[in-house]
Amino acid sequence: MDSSLGELRREVRGLCREWREAGRYRPRPDAWLRSFDLAFSRELAGRGWLGMTWPKALGGGERSNRARLVLTEELLRAGAPVAAHWIGDRQIGPSVLRHGTERLQREILPGIAAGEFVFCLGMSEPDAGSDLAAVRTAATRVPGGWRIDGRKIWTSHAHRATHAYLLARSERSEVKHVGLTEFVLDMTASGVSVSPIVDMAGSHHFNEVVFEDVFVPEHRVIGAVGNGWAQVTEQLSYERGGPERVLSTYPVLAGLLDAADDGLAAEVGELVARLATLRALCVQVADSLDAGEAPVRAAATLKYLGTAFERDVLECARRATGSGVIAPESPLGEAILAAPGFSIRGGSSEVLLSILAKQEVRR
Ligand SMILES: Cc1cc2nc3c(=O)[nH]c(=O)nc-3n(C[C@H](O)[C@H](O)[C@H](O)COP(=O)(O)OP(=O)(O)OC[C@H]3O[C@@H](n4cnc5c(N)ncnc54)[C@H](O)[C@@H]3O)c2cc1C
Repeated sequence: MDSSLGELRREVRGLCREWREAGRYRPRPDAWLRSFDLAFSRELAGRGWLGMTWPKALGGGERSNRARLVLTEELLRAGAPVAAHWIGDRQIGPSVLRHGTERLQREILPGIAAGEFVFCLGMSEPDAGSDLAAVRTAATRVPGGWRIDGRKIWTSHAHRATHAYLLARSERSEVKHVGLTEFVLDMTASGVSVSPIVDMAGSHHFNEVVFEDVFVPEHRVIGAVGNGWAQVTEQLSYERGGPERVLSTYPVLAGLLDAADDGLAAEVGELVARLATLRALCVQVADSLDAGEAPVRAAATLKYLGTAFERDVLECARRATGSGVIAPESPLGEAILAAPGFSIRGGSSEVLLSILAKQEVRR
């Protein structure tokens, strides 16, 4: 058990307060996806707070996932601008650590931990969103590596990323889950082009990314060729099992806690009780990561329940405003505009239920 978690919590709160009071950021809901500031990510890196669970030899801090949970909870509660490092720190680093060769680990992990490398996620395609195993982006063997041809969509921050994680089809197969391989690509590689997609809130984090005859050296394969489905399933548990599935709307809940009158006290109290239960699930996920497991089931449960919780936070806040106008740039306005994506990104609620049902049948 990490003995200095309380101290870490105080330090993170202090840093966020300092930046906020200096006007260096505005607390926002969904900040892990929408609030991007490399300077803030590098401030965290300088304190040893990126890649904090990884080996020191690879730029990490060798701390526990419980400690990382304290960090991520506080950053999300503060609505701090963490999008620049979130994907690399949360899932690509751990995935490379679990499956990558030593060469790939040495090439990638210190750069993420230093806040130098920004990763985007090349999973979804126009005809392979919820059905991720249907990806068609092709990886073809060539001397010294692979050639990539295809198209990814909804790729958050691809226009700012230095690197992409890519799930591609390296073998045609009757069974769609067979023949997938994971890669790390440089976004500056010849043949990569990025086009913006503006979302309904008017913000630009989504992109479409086209890969035309892009060369990827052999050592940039993550894990075993053809083992992509098993590996990405584990990676998705890092993606789904964190407190961002519960605390994306925290700035709105904080407003409710400050303002709740007698009429709403019972409802807000119930939300707080649910939050406590979901936090317990986050701790369970962190502990199972500390035990070296990939908690597929617990993470799917957390994301499914967390999405429902966040929807109810917003409904309660909407009722609290009565017939008042909700400004689009207020925390509630921003959260309402972002919310339709909550139950879709990272695995839609329907898909998560299907995963949970299948796991139950296998037990
Ligand atoms: C905010 C946000 C950020 C994202 N960022 C990224 C990113 O950085 N990288 C990336 O690769 N992807 C990203 N995505 C994509 C996301 O993870 C989903 O894969 C994708 O949006 C879902 O695919 P689709 O849009 O094609 O919807 P569809 O797959 O067409 O699904 C539409 C609806 O149909 C339902 N549905 C689909 N199949 C079934 C089924 N078998 N049974 C029951 N219901 C079903 C779904 O649950 C969903 O509600 C992001 C999405 C959002 C909203």
